Amino acid sequence: MIVDFFLVHKVLIFLINVISVYLFCIIYFNNTKSNISRIFIVMIVLMLFWVDFAFLARVTSDQSSLSMFFLKIAWFVTPIFFLSLYFFTIYLIKESHKYRFLSVAVFLAGTIISILTGLTSLILNNVRHNVNGLEIIYGQGMFLFLISIFFIICSTLYPLIKKYSRISAKKKIKIGYFLIGIFIFYFANIVFNIIFPLFFNVFHLYYFGDYSIIILLIFTTYAITKHELMGIKTLITQTLIVIISIILLVDVFLLSDDIVIQLSKVGVLVTFLYFSRELIKSVKKEKEIVKELKSAYRKINHYIKRLEKGNKNLEKSNQRFKELLEMKNEFLHITSHQLRTPLTAIRGMLSMWYKGDFENLPEKEKKKMIKRILVSADRLNNITNDMLDTMELEGMSLKFKFKSVSIARIIKETIDTLKPNFDKKNIYIKLKINTKVSDAEVEPNYIRQVFMNIIDNACKYTKKGGVSINIEKDDKYIKVIVKDTGAGISKVDQIKIFDKFTRGENAISENASGSGLGLFIAKRIIKEHKGKIKMESEGIGKGSTVKIYLRISNN
Ligand code: ADP
Repeated sequence: MIVDFFLVHKVLIFLINVISVYLFCIIYFNNTKSNISRIFIVMIVLMLFWVDFAFLARVTSDQSSLSMFFLKIAWFVTPIFFLSLYFFTIYLIKESHKYRFLSVAVFLAGTIISILTGLTSLILNNVRHNVNGLEIIYGQGMFLFLISIFFIICSTLYPLIKKYSRISAKKKIKIGYFLIGIFIFYFANIVFNIIFPLFFNVFHLYYFGDYSIIILLIFTTYAITKHELMGIKTLITQTLIVIISIILLVDVFLLSDDIVIQLSKVGVLVTFLYFSRELIKSVKKEKEIVKELKSAYRKINHYIKRLEKGNKNLEKSNQRFKELLEMKNEFLHITSHQLRTPLTAIRGMLSMWYKGDFENLPEKEKKKMIKRILVSADRLNNITNDMLDTMELEGMSLKFKFKSVSIARIIKETIDTLKPNFDKKNIYIKLKINTKVSDAEVEPNYIRQVFMNIIDNACKYTKKGGVSINIEKDDKYIKVIVKDTGAGISKVDQIKIFDKFTRGENAISENASGSGLGLFIAKRIIKEHKGKIKMESEGIGKGSTVKIYLRISNN
């Protein structure tokens, strides 16, 4: 049974040593500059001291003073190993700055207990050889040792678990392996090194607590290789180098009688190590070049995206520019036509007057002719005003200053201004306000212009009856409904009535001086107010209704 145990010990010790050398080489050749790599290397060295000297103490258990010496070294190193594991952890999770006080406390606890263990017999009193091998006689201060280790364990787990609970799923896998390794290591340590020997007097399983470190190493290795805990990518190269180095090293230790052969063995090893170093350097360089290329690629991609975006904007501006140009041409074309008609009429009549063609006409006809000149001049005036408004709206040079105003008040004022026109035509104008408050969020000057146009149209296109205006309100809007008993509009005309320079079929006979811009302007202004405007009519001769919806004020 004992022999079996020894065999297991030997195999485990061998495995631990090989894995440690392997890990040492990987980290040493790769990433020695970062804090975490340095600590990992220290950890490996400390762990080897601990495990190997504990093994030596067991092997020499029949020579108590030598065994005690080895055991003291192992125990001296143990708290320092726990200490290094703590620092490895907080550097791994990148939170060393957060736990400054805890780090000082852990450092003090670890070093003090380590010195006490190594230099006094307070913790390790003596060793005895019995049938199971080595038996340890603990000193009075053993509990101090246990408390210190327990404190360091808790201080390591606390930041690690806290961080683990807060990180992304991807990073969780990486730190997860390390966490599992650390848990198994701590658990085995507490069971085999503390509970079994202290409470059940079972010493022969003691070393399995120490050997559980191999599990921590395996998990950390897995985390390093599979999930690039330290950014290692040149693993295959290094694995081969390490294996060959171990073989060459073993070969060197298999001493040969021939000095030349022995020297050449050493020479081969040294040369191999030198070239390996160069190889790893070149692999690292290659890795850096790839990294640089990747970042350059990312940058180029970024610029391409920006260029594409800029191009799109340019295309959009170009499109808008084309639209504006088209609009300008269309505008010039229509306006020249619109202006030419009344101007030609004015010019024709004035030239007749100048030539004396009016002189022979009776007084009544003369007046008729002058009235026609006035109507054409009026039309010219209306068109010019409307065109100026349209140009302003198209160019968006207007700045709307919205404020809460009473729509009822604006309409009353508009009616007052237009009342003489209604009286002249002998038609009625009625106003009904079905709401107490009619405040809406508007630009008063423009809204006044809209109502002026709509009510004036209602007057212009009505011969009999009159116009009734209702002001209502719902959750969102103040509604102004202008209903007349006038000319009405055909269904076909209703579709295009809000377009630029569009006049209805019977509009010209009803009112010659219109520009066909009034409703277009009104619609643009209402749109700027995020309101609605529509025109309804049952048909020609059946009157029309204009509905305007304006957003209610919030206050
Ligand atoms: P204008 O009145 O100067 O012709 P508008 O843009 O104000 O231009 O109106 C466009 C057309 O809509 C008018 O020519 C007319 O045919 C029709 N219209 C507007 N209001 C009324 C109304 N109350 N009754 C009948 N037709 C109307």
